[in-house]
Amino acid sequence: MRGLMMDFQLTVPAMLERAGNIFGKTEIVTRRPDRSLVRYTWHDLYRRARRLANALTGLGMRRGDRVATLLWNQSEHMEAYLGVPSAGGVLHTLNLRLHPDEISFIANHAGDRFLIVDDVMLPVFEKCRDKMKFERVIVVPFGGCPLPAGYLGYEELLSQASEDFTYPQLDENEAAVMCYTSGTTGRSKGVVYSHRAVTLHSANCCGVDSFAISLRDTVLPMASMFHANGWGIPFTTAMAGSKVVLPGPYADPEGVLDLMEQERVTVVLGVPTVWFGVLNALDNNPGRWKFSWPIRMLVGGAAASEALMRGFDRHGFKMMSLWGMTETTPHGSCSQLRPHMDFWSEEDQYAQRLKQGLPAALVEARIMRPEGTQAPHDGKTVGELEVRGPWVAGAYYNLPEESHRWSPDGWLRTGDMAHIDEDGYIKLVDRSKDLIKSGGEWISSVDLENALMGHPSVKEAAVIGVAHPKWQERPLAVVVLIEGKQAQPEELREFLSAKFAKWQLPDAFVFTNEIPRTSVGKFRKIALREQFADWKWES
Ligand code: ADP
Repeated sequence: MRGLMMDFQLTVPAMLERAGNIFGKTEIVTRRPDRSLVRYTWHDLYRRARRLANALTGLGMRRGDRVATLLWNQSEHMEAYLGVPSAGGVLHTLNLRLHPDEISFIANHAGDRFLIVDDVMLPVFEKCRDKMKFERVIVVPFGGCPLPAGYLGYEELLSQASEDFTYPQLDENEAAVMCYTSGTTGRSKGVVYSHRAVTLHSANCCGVDSFAISLRDTVLPMASMFHANGWGIPFTTAMAGSKVVLPGPYADPEGVLDLMEQERVTVVLGVPTVWFGVLNALDNNPGRWKFSWPIRMLVGGAAASEALMRGFDRHGFKMMSLWGMTETTPHGSCSQLRPHMDFWSEEDQYAQRLKQGLPAALVEARIMRPEGTQAPHDGKTVGELEVRGPWVAGAYYNLPEESHRWSPDGWLRTGDMAHIDEDGYIKLVDRSKDLIKSGGEWISSVDLENALMGHPSVKEAAVIGVAHPKWQERPLAVVVLIEGKQAQPEELREFLSAKFAKWQLPDAFVFTNEIPRTSVGKFRKIALREQFADWKWES
């Protein structure tokens, strides 16, 4: 017997309609390049997104055509997120921090037809303009610069378009958004999200055991809107009807805290590196910012350290670690304590909260051993994490040579080494490419880094495996000290030896001023491995 429910397609226009009509008075605030704040409402966004849909259709955009963006976290980016897919186009968020050659490679690979670019990003665009094939380039006056000749003005285009728009009959499996991986471990690969995937993902992010994003929240996404489907935030906040605060091109810690205080932000999201700086600012300026309401921090993209979590707990912010990938839209798992864990020791609770956590509802996870058998959920057997679910990619865009990233029975091989405990919590040990292979054993670079970052003199630490004549690889730690503080290698080894066996300790510590980062703020270990490729171990 078939079910008798309506055949209601899960599509982006439904989220746009909900936000515009039910939450029309709720604010969206954007910080412009001159640091001024511009406010409007979901109803304004709704009207402008529909104008954009009309304008692009008028320019010849057809179903499935890619519309690229080179935009910061700003309201026009939200308009594109909701307006382009509502007209049947595919929003392709280009990563504006990449090298122009990489940007043009990605835009060409994706077959982008149109581009919406910030005026302040035009110098970057000009560097790769000749290598790309955009038919129309639309410029947003974000920085208030005059429109240069040869471009279309975003505001002019919108003002000439009607806000009455009839949505095409979209199939929920059609493409809505496209995003390339940030390329931490290799060349970027394109992921294409369907309307169904982004809708279900948003519904999940509103769930209380996920991020619990609701109509009572004010959300400040510090994660870039060009990273991993903007962490789903443009769609999730539209569905939930949250107030949104967009930081524009700035991520300076004091500016983040000012925005949080001024706009009474309740949820922030971003990679750990942003939050290290924010924690330092809070520690160094006691009493400067006053938060009398609960704040939730969703920290993902790389492992968060215990020092970071304890630090924010001290300031009364509730931090939650979440794991995800561009390929998982991106929410894959997050960590909350289950009721029986309320009785655990403080130390065990931190260890559990720092795990990557329970798979999101509708996402399934398993650990596969190298020999191809499934590992038990015993909290210790390590293997590759594989996931599947309605918002997990089933292939990369136009990249058949990468099909080995899916198992024969259809699971995504994440490239992350992990174990799962009896309560179902995933714990990432390392990316498989970052695991240090020493004398037939594995050493987790992430665990060493996070422990080092708990030392009172250490600001940041990255650990890499460096070739060794006897042990295959040995760990080398690259350490940035807090200004004015000192630490000797022996002291750091001693500090680590409380938690690690002797053979796991780094054999060398190199002190530096900065650790290279990727375009989305993760440690760029590829660069460190190149830097230390010729390292000579003392014999
Ligand atoms: P890239 O692979 O280029 O960095 P993504 O941003 O999609 O692109 O990265 C996904 C990867 O980031 C995951 O496979 C994992 O290695 C890492 N990651 C994401 N969230 C976490 C987390 N909470 N803890 C540890 N690692 C994480």
